[in-house]
Amino acid sequence: MRLRNFLYSGVAMAFLFLSACQSPKNESATMLIYGGTIYTVDTNQPLIEAVAIKDNIILFAGSLAEAEKFKTDQTQLINLEGKTMTPGLIEGHGHFMGLGYNELNLDLMHTTSYQEIVAAVAEKVKTAAPGEWITGRGWHQNKWKEMPADMVNGFQTHDMLSAVSPDNPVYLRHASGHAGFANAKAMEIAGVTVMSKEGINKFEVEGGEVMRDAMGRPTGIFNERAEYLITKHIPESTPEKDIKAFELAVAACHRNGITGFHDAGIGRETIALYKEMKTLDKMKIRLYGMLTGWDKELLSEWYEKGPVIDPDNLLTLRSVKLNCDGALGSRGAWLLEPYTDRPGHFGHETLPMEFVKETALNGLQKGFQICSHAIGDRANREILDRYEAAFTALPDLAVDHRFRIEHAQHLHPDDIPRFAELGVIPAMQAIHMSSDRPWAIDRLGEQRIKEGAYMWQSLLQSGIPIVNGTDVPVEPMNPVASFYASVSRKTLKGSPDGGYEPAEKMTREQALRSYTLDAAYGAFEEDIKGSITVGKLADFTIFNQDLMKVAEKDLLNTKVVMTIFDGKVVYEE
Ligand SMILES: [Zn+2]
Repeated sequence: MRLRNFLYSGVAMAFLFLSACQSPKNESATMLIYGGTIYTVDTNQPLIEAVAIKDNIILFAGSLAEAEKFKTDQTQLINLEGKTMTPGLIEGHGHFMGLGYNELNLDLMHTTSYQEIVAAVAEKVKTAAPGEWITGRGWHQNKWKEMPADMVNGFQTHDMLSAVSPDNPVYLRHASGHAGFANAKAMEIAGVTVMSKEGINKFEVEGGEVMRDAMGRPTGIFNERAEYLITKHIPESTPEKDIKAFELAVAACHRNGITGFHDAGIGRETIALYKEMKTLDKMKIRLYGMLTGWDKELLSEWYEKGPVIDPDNLLTLRSVKLNCDGALGSRGAWLLEPYTDRPGHFGHETLPMEFVKETALNGLQKGFQICSHAIGDRANREILDRYEAAFTALPDLAVDHRFRIEHAQHLHPDDIPRFAELGVIPAMQAIHMSSDRPWAIDRLGEQRIKEGAYMWQSLLQSGIPIVNGTDVPVEPMNPVASFYASVSRKTLKGSPDGGYEPAEKMTREQALRSYTLDAAYGAFEEDIKGSITVGKLADFTIFNQDLMKVAEKDLLNTKVVMTIFDGKVVYEE
């Protein structure tokens, strides 16, 4: 791992050397950007007047007068006309194909009642072929204005849904991505209809739950690994659909000013698709893929083969994703003390902790970064323990490991300083605080929320960078909303005054870094992206207003108006 980093630095240094030694007259820019406010996220010169680019590399960053020396008749001129530019934003934790499929599937993200979900499905039934699966995602019962009369463990039951779609199986994933909601037809196909005692036991799933009412009837809710009982019956997507979803995801990134994307958990088929997309020149995004830890055969293959660091900087695969607990909304997050609103329930781990240690050791030996999903304080502690044991066992290989914990939402106060001590990077999606904090306090109670939830400033102060993001499609990919959440700690409706636990707010500089240079660091890529620095890749995001200066109440009016990827304009409003 150290050798590879050194090579990266070497490349960046070579560019620096070239541009320092060659006379400007010999270098001509393919693009010159000027006329606005340009934040570089480079501490040597935080604000500049102009950037000159040659092909896909930054040739010069500084004053306009000097930048113009690189101009020729061929140079494309981009006048920002007073707008604001930053380095291209990096989504630090998302699900790329989930984003694409979200654009293809029934989008329930904005539904505010069970009735609305049922209506959306009823509409879809009209055009669906007989027996065709209806799939969707994004519903969340905590966003509902009113609750249906029949609720089991805080969730709706399937009867209303089943009534509007008697012949089409329906499966609707929860916004958290950790549970799903099936109708009677889907459960019939899966064979989950038996009410006998024996039948019930048949569907006990380790690391998951088939929710049932007092009579033992399944309610339609499938938690964590129990989801597979249903999802294994949903027909695989077609290659044409995959390509369409991929293209929609790329377009969504460009629309949101996203030029780099950390894809948190991909399997064999997705890797094959990405390779094909790259060959077909459709990879207009820099993907940093994490191999899914569910597939042990896939991991063995990659340990054998070793990491792939793409010389074209489009598709790099050098990390492994482990899913270690569930989400807070479905009470799957693994806690040290019971849930405040479900006594005796601690949530659960979704894989054996011994496997985290084994994977951490393999990662160090084979050159892979490990990224473990952990929401609850117990899961976070257990993972830090396993990482630490691996670092101690293999100290020479652990010098620059950059292991991550994805989400790191709820931490025991004792564990907060351990991230910096161990060099473990927290990848935290600020928008989750904004969406979840109003109800998360029901799950955790006041003390745990105040001492250990969404501890951004404490972590940053302790000396570890944070990788930001949205976990799209769990949340919309909008980086402006996540930036606003980072600096305000408010809901998107602007409450409460002063923000939740205001001492944990990020500054705007920290928030911008968490979306650029610090996100690049979380992928060993700070030498090639994340700041507007000579020799780095020419990826930029342009906004309609100065998001570093406008009043907080106006921040959410910030819009991405242009995205430049690999030295080319790929989106313009
Ligand atoms: Zn995720």
